[in-house]
Amino acid sequence: MMNIPFNWPHMTGKELYYIAQSHCNGRLAGDGPFTKRCHAWLEERASCGKALLTHSCTAALEMAALLLDIQPGDEIIMPSYTFVSTANAFVLRGAGVVFVDIREDTLNLDERLIEAAITPRTKAIVPVHYAGVACAMDEIMAIARRHGLKVVEDAAQGVMASYKGQALGAFGDLGCYSFHETKNVIAGEGGALLVNDPLLIAQAEIIREKGTDRSRFFRGEVDKYTWQEAGSSFLPGELIAAFLFAQMEEAERITEERLGIWRRYHQMLAPLEQAGLLRRPIIPNHCRHNGHMYYTLLAPGIQRQRVLDKLKSQGIGAVFHYVPLHASPAGRRYGRVVGSLAVTEDISERLIRLPLWFGLDAARQERVVEVLAGALRRT
Ligand SMILES: *Cc1c(COP(=O)(O)O)cnc(C)c1O
Repeated sequence: MMNIPFNWPHMTGKELYYIAQSHCNGRLAGDGPFTKRCHAWLEERASCGKALLTHSCTAALEMAALLLDIQPGDEIIMPSYTFVSTANAFVLRGAGVVFVDIREDTLNLDERLIEAAITPRTKAIVPVHYAGVACAMDEIMAIARRHGLKVVEDAAQGVMASYKGQALGAFGDLGCYSFHETKNVIAGEGGALLVNDPLLIAQAEIIREKGTDRSRFFRGEVDKYTWQEAGSSFLPGELIAAFLFAQMEEAERITEERLGIWRRYHQMLAPLEQAGLLRRPIIPNHCRHNGHMYYTLLAPGIQRQRVLDKLKSQGIGAVFHYVPLHASPAGRRYGRVVGSLAVTEDISERLIRLPLWFGLDAARQERVVEVLAGALRRT
């Protein structure tokens, strides 16, 4: 049997060499030479004023909530169809999360529903770029400006993807990336905060360095560093940065490879879509995605679990995705729903993700599609 895992982390080959360099030059704590190279890479790619490596995208989101001074009773508008960290970061500051539905085409926050969810307590909108496909950022930024709200992009899946030529994560006041092993460009655990509002840069550095002005001290701007305000430790060590920089150098190639695999699935699945058995992803014209994920929506009435079981029995690692946050125990406690979440509830029951990793060849993809087709025709 041909085993086809859902994910297989891609190593570029230079990770250990860069880690060895850190080892030899004796710089292991954070913000050393490799972290600086990662920051420069991010700032160039995203054309953002400041990029800061963090332990994870979760940590970057938590920094965002601290930077925006989110207080108990504040409200944050976000999709329910997302990872728990999108909500947790704000709930940890005492905020309530307000869930609105997603668009049927991209499965992203439906910008047409945001304004109805705004109250005097609303502080921020948190769009999530699902599968590295951009939310309608022009519209979302216009709504935020009109109502004086902040925007934090959860661009965990969006490294190397863009909207109208601009990198995801570079639109909001703050943007958050993930370099988790399951993403495209990886460090095991890792993330970054893009600080697009220049007024937040100095404070971001302080919050990330235990509430001190240590970053300014290292640049020689102050002669000692002191406790400036409440903060924590959000910076990864140099070994992580060394690994990550090897990945960043290959990010273009990784993205091209993944997009090739994505397009192959898209072609192979066209007949099943025509037969009414599934729906393929929809990429709006102004979005350049990054091949992060190939998902498909099974036709209503098809029993997803039986399809997944069938794939699993043939050694194929296909998986479903989020359990909507509004329907989970913590989501019910900390969140509230505005309007109907009909699209969220419908698609979350019908979505499956197919194996997609650097090196997945056409023969394996054909096998995935063959087994999927068999399962769909029989369930
Ligand atoms: C992966 C992911 C996260 C969390 O990223 P970590 O780096 O693991 O903390 C947050 N939000 C979304 C949408 C994700 O896909």
